Amino acid sequence: MDADGLSTGATPIDYLRISVTDRCNLRCIYCMPAEGVHGLDHDDIMTYEELDLFARAAVAAGITRIRLTGGEPMVRKGLTGFIEMLSRIEPAPRLSLTTNGVLLAGRAAELKRAGLGRVNVSIDSLDPEVYRHMTRIGDLDSAMAGVRDAVEQGLDPVKLNVVVLKGVNDDPTAFGELTRELPVHVRFIEFMPYFDRKDRSYVPGHVIRERLGGLGPLEEAESPEGWGPAEYFRLRGAVGTLGTISSVSCHFCPSCNRLRVTADGRMRTCLFDSDGVDVKAAIRAGADPGRLREIIEGELERKRAEGDSRKPGPGSSHRATDHMSRIGG
Ligand code: SAM
Ligand code: SF4
Repeated sequence: MDADGLSTGATPIDYLRISVTDRCNLRCIYCMPAEGVHGLDHDDIMTYEELDLFARAAVAAGITRIRLTGGEPMVRKGLTGFIEMLSRIEPAPRLSLTTNGVLLAGRAAELKRAGLGRVNVSIDSLDPEVYRHMTRIGDLDSAMAGVRDAVEQGLDPVKLNVVVLKGVNDDPTAFGELTRELPVHVRFIEFMPYFDRKDRSYVPGHVIRERLGGLGPLEEAESPEGWGPAEYFRLRGAVGTLGTISSVSCHFCPSCNRLRVTADGRMRTCLFDSDGVDVKAAIRAGADPGRLREIIEGELERKRAEGDSRKPGPGSSHRATDHMSRIGG
């Protein structure tokens, strides 16, 4: 099959998210329970060599962009070397990282030299107390130092992910002000009740936009990468942009271009897949790159064929078996 032709409807499936670990140095209230999360055993985690093999097969199957995520990817040793490995794949995929930023300060230059192009930093509030409440243990200054280092070292774009919880961090104005001085792209993400958090509610993207309008005129803006699920705008004269990702109030499945592999080696073509395909077992049983590519293409073809029919219905997010931290967002 011609890999370039694989798509859901008109959308090519060309984006791979690799969760390199299920461990995290924070405990965000919307992502993980406070206690009782049992980490995977060392042997259950894909090695970097296995992930590299998988990534090469995925690129052969049409993937052009790879994002490293977690858990918190920066807590896994050897991440820089893994980025170097991925940067040697041909044709070269665009490499990006999603991190909470706490360990980023002082490492952005090294990551960029290894081949990283862009970074998303999750920062849910610019108020230190609210940030601490939402991450349970995080220090806002450390995360913001990471953001500033990424900007100074020329990672581009630097995006900030803000998961908005009603009544907790639903005043977006401080982020609006931030974009006047820092060239970052802030995306307000609707909270998905992924594990049992029926007590929390999301705030629709349009409400956030209306609140930002109180700071001054908003102008439409291009997506910093030219694609993606966010709608972007900017405050007149600002160096950064603002955007909303309406993953709950709008239905994305028809335009989903994502393939995921979890830290324990399960390939998922949908965030709501219950288990996915065990590619780690296939690799450990000796699957060569050609066989892996066949497995990936088979799943992509299935995703294309199922298209919109798998869209999550009400409550489907509660049926998911893993926490977001294990799948990688
Ligand atoms: N630890 C890294 C971080 O926080 O950026 C990477 C992993 S985290 C699971 C990836 C993304 O998932 C983050 O941007 C996070 O905000 C998002 N996320 C986690 N739980 C979510 C939820 N319940 N609803 C919406 N987004 C969520
Ligand atoms: Fe950790 Fe990221 Fe989940 Fe927060 S959102 S608990 S930083 S994995």
